[in-house]
Amino acid sequence: MTQRQSKPGDYDLLIVGAGPVGCVVAERAARCKGWKSLVIDRREHVAGNCHDRLHESGVLIHPYGPHYFRTNNPGLLRYLSRFTEWVDGQYIVKSAVGDKLYPIPINLTTLEMFFGESLDEVSAKRLLDSLAHPIADPQNSEEFVLSRVGRELYEAFYLGYTQKQWDLHPRQLAPSVCGRVPVRLNRDERYVDHRYQLTPKDGFDAMFRKMLDHPLITVQTGTEFGDVRGRIEPRRATVYSGAIDEYFDHCHGRLDWRSLRFEFEYVEQPFVQPCVQINHPAAHAYSRTVEIKHVTGQAHPGTVLSYEYPSATGEPFYPVPTPQGSALYAKYKVEAQVETQERAVYFAGRLAEYIYINTDEALEKGLALFERLALERDWYFLPRALKRAEGLGTAKPVGAASPARSAS
Ligand code: UDP
Repeated sequence: MTQRQSKPGDYDLLIVGAGPVGCVVAERAARCKGWKSLVIDRREHVAGNCHDRLHESGVLIHPYGPHYFRTNNPGLLRYLSRFTEWVDGQYIVKSAVGDKLYPIPINLTTLEMFFGESLDEVSAKRLLDSLAHPIADPQNSEEFVLSRVGRELYEAFYLGYTQKQWDLHPRQLAPSVCGRVPVRLNRDERYVDHRYQLTPKDGFDAMFRKMLDHPLITVQTGTEFGDVRGRIEPRRATVYSGAIDEYFDHCHGRLDWRSLRFEFEYVEQPFVQPCVQINHPAAHAYSRTVEIKHVTGQAHPGTVLSYEYPSATGEPFYPVPTPQGSALYAKYKVEAQVETQERAVYFAGRLAEYIYINTDEALEKGLALFERLALERDWYFLPRALKRAEGLGTAKPVGAASPARSAS
C-alpha cells in the first residue's frame, strides 16, 4: 500500500475509513475528477469488514464474517468488474434444528422435512396460509415472521437464532431484521434472491486494493481519525464512514452496536460442512459456523471453520434496529447535517448512517456520495466572484473538538 508523508491542505478529500464507501469515493474522485485523496483507516488493512486474508494454513478466510456479494444492479456489477473477475456465489445455508440440517430460507424441502409430508407449491401455500397469523401490518420481527409462517416454524428457526444474534427478543427488533430472509414455495436453496450472486475471483481485498491503486490516492492504514483531525485540511471535503456517535464524542449518548467474536479452526480435510453456513438457533453459544471455502472455491487440501459468537462488546458491526436506536441516531443525524453544511464533512455507510445494509448497498452509497461531491464540491467552473461570495475554495478544517451543539 502507498504510504507517503502528508502535508496539510495537500488533498482534495480526506477519507476516513477504507471500506466500500471510502474506496469507491477515492477511486471515482481520482479517475473522474483528478482529485487527490488521503484515505485513512485505523485497521492495518483496507476493505473494511469485507477484508479477506490467508489463514496461517493458507486457506483464504473472511475474518469479519462471511460476505456473500449480491446485487440487482447491473451498473454496479459493470463498475466493479473493472477491478475483479468473478466466480459464481454458492451461498447455501442450513439450519441445525434437533438432529437435522434444514434448508434456510424456509422452502418446500424445509416444510416437507419439518412437517413430514410431501408437498407441492399449492399444498405448501395452503399449509402456510393455515399456519400464518393474520397480522396485516407487522410492527416488529416477531409479528413479521408469525404473519409469514406461524408459531412453530418461528420458534424453531427464528426465535433462538435472533435472541442469540441480538440479545433481544424479536418483538424488540424492526420487521426488516427477520425480513431479510425470504420464505419460498419452491426448492431454491440459495440464501438470497438477488439477480447477481457473485464472489470476486481473487477475493475482496484484491478488488479493493485495485480500486485504490492510483497515483492520486494515498492510503494510510493503522491511522486513527484523531491523529489527523484538525491537522489535515482537505481542499474540498472530508468523507467519514466510521461510527457516527464516535465522531461526535458520544455527545448524545452511545448508540447500541452489535459485535461478533470469531474462532477459527483448521481441519485437515477438503470440507467439513455440506455448505458454507450452518445456523444454530438452539444449541451452542455460537450462532453460526462458516466454511468460506465453499464460496471462494479455493483449491486446498484443508479447510477452515469459523465459529461466530455474537457479542455486546468489541468493534461495531451491526447497528441494532430498534425504535430507541433510530431515535438516538436521529439526533446524531441532525448534528451530521450541520457538520456537512459548516465543515463539508459527509457521512456515509453502515456505521456513519447507523443502517443495516449489505456490501452492494454500501458500494452504491459510495457512488451516490461521489456524485453529490461532484455537484457540491467542484467549483472549478464557477466564476471567481461567486466562489468568494460562497466561501468556496477550501473546506473548513474539521475541528479537533466535537461541536456538541445540543448535547442532551
Ligand atoms: N434469522 C433467523 N434465523 C436464521 C437466519 C436469520 O432468525 O436462520 C434472523 C436473525 O434475526 C438475523 C436476521 O434474520 O439477524 C438476518 O439474517 P442474515 O443472515 O441476513 O444476517 P447477517 O448475515 O447480516 O448477519
